[in-house]
Amino acid sequence: MTDADTTAALVDTVRRFARQRVAPVAARHDAEDSYPADLVADMADMGLFGITIPEAYGGLGLDLVTYTTIVEELAWAWMSVTGFLNTHFMVSYLVNTFGTEDQRTRLLPKLACGEIRGAYSMTEPDAGSDVAAITTKAVRDGDDWVVNGTKAWLTNGRMAGLIAMLVRTPGEPAAGDGRHGELTVLLVEKEPGADRHGGITVGPNVHKLGYRGIETVEVSLADHRVPADAVLGGVTNRGFAQMMAAVELGRVNIAARAIGVAQRALDESLGYARTRTTFGRRIADHQAIGFKLAEMATKVTAARLLYRQAAAEKQAGERSDLTASMAKLFCAETCWEVCGEALRIHGGNGYAAEYPVERLYRDAPLMIIGDGTSEIQKLVISRRLLEAEDT
Ligand SMILES: Cc1cc2nc3c(=O)[nH]c(=O)nc-3n(C[C@H](O)[C@H](O)[C@H](O)COP(=O)(O)OP(=O)(O)OC[C@H]3O[C@@H](n4cnc5c(N)ncnc54)[C@H](O)[C@@H]3O)c2cc1C
Repeated sequence: MTDADTTAALVDTVRRFARQRVAPVAARHDAEDSYPADLVADMADMGLFGITIPEAYGGLGLDLVTYTTIVEELAWAWMSVTGFLNTHFMVSYLVNTFGTEDQRTRLLPKLACGEIRGAYSMTEPDAGSDVAAITTKAVRDGDDWVVNGTKAWLTNGRMAGLIAMLVRTPGEPAAGDGRHGELTVLLVEKEPGADRHGGITVGPNVHKLGYRGIETVEVSLADHRVPADAVLGGVTNRGFAQMMAAVELGRVNIAARAIGVAQRALDESLGYARTRTTFGRRIADHQAIGFKLAEMATKVTAARLLYRQAAAEKQAGERSDLTASMAKLFCAETCWEVCGEALRIHGGNGYAAEYPVERLYRDAPLMIIGDGTSEIQKLVISRRLLEAEDT
């Protein structure tokens, strides 16, 4: 088989898994907010936790375009299962791209097979968009770093065995300006599933509007000790740029996830509009509904092309912050809009949990918040446009 055949076979396997195994149980897990342990185990068996990790470290070594296609397929069935992959994928990227050879050899094989899963932690209770305002601090003490502070909104935070955590490291030789230049990524290892580990306390799961079944938690650290070699790449105060490189990937991932959800909303709407009748005809035959479907399909198709372009640019190693932000912005807003239109097309039934659009409508808003809000994407885009004009 050629590489293209292998990739196509994996995408096909994931599509069947998403439609046959994930979609039928999504509503139950969503209603119960229950963790789908069996689905996570199946994803590990399929090698999905190592899709982009190089084969030399036990992964599948596939490209970003393939990864995002798989994310779209999974999100079509249930957005939450893509959450098990996203932060894990960002952490794997950080270790592979910036880690020391020792960190790569020790951590990537375990990440690739899903033995440990990754959580990505920048946000704090008082610092989200303004990343450089974080206050969690690590201070060197002999062979250890001693960490104190509170991190917020950790997706996979309880079940993760490895947290890529952005902390302040004042007193270390600064890289760049003060606020951004004294931030370091620590690779914090912990017992998966445990509420306590050393000085780490994992808080209760946040009760969320959507994106249920996957835990999002606060993690506090009180004099928690990590070894000196937990610093990503062995170099302090490079953390801001490292985390931003990973967030660019996260943005492309969220864009693909948004299109999976939007495509599902469109498919559900097409099915409903074909069968629901009012005033003696299918609602699809009322022009107002037909035009909605036409606009939804056009926007979803355009948005998909944009995220694929962003994925291809990042894969090629080109500077891709502009396209990644455009893809994140356009796909997230398209998803939100399309899910709203799907709800309208379903009339009262769109408000009922027995129809998938009710869940899609609750899941969609995360796309305009996570990995940088739409407002932050507009900031990145406008700065890049002006930068291009000024040079
Ligand atoms: C379900 C969920 C999962 C998450 N998972 C993770 C995770 O795994 N790891 C992680 O680190 N974080 C995670 N987050 C956090 C997420 O990245 C932040 O919520 C997001 O970056 C926004 O930060 P904030 O909530 O502090 O909002 P704020 O930064 O307080 O912003 C509030 C509002 O002000 C706007 N705003 C802020 N600054 C500006 C500005 N300069 N110009 C214009 N408008 C502005 C924002 O767009 C927003 O509308 C998660 C969040 C959610 C909801």
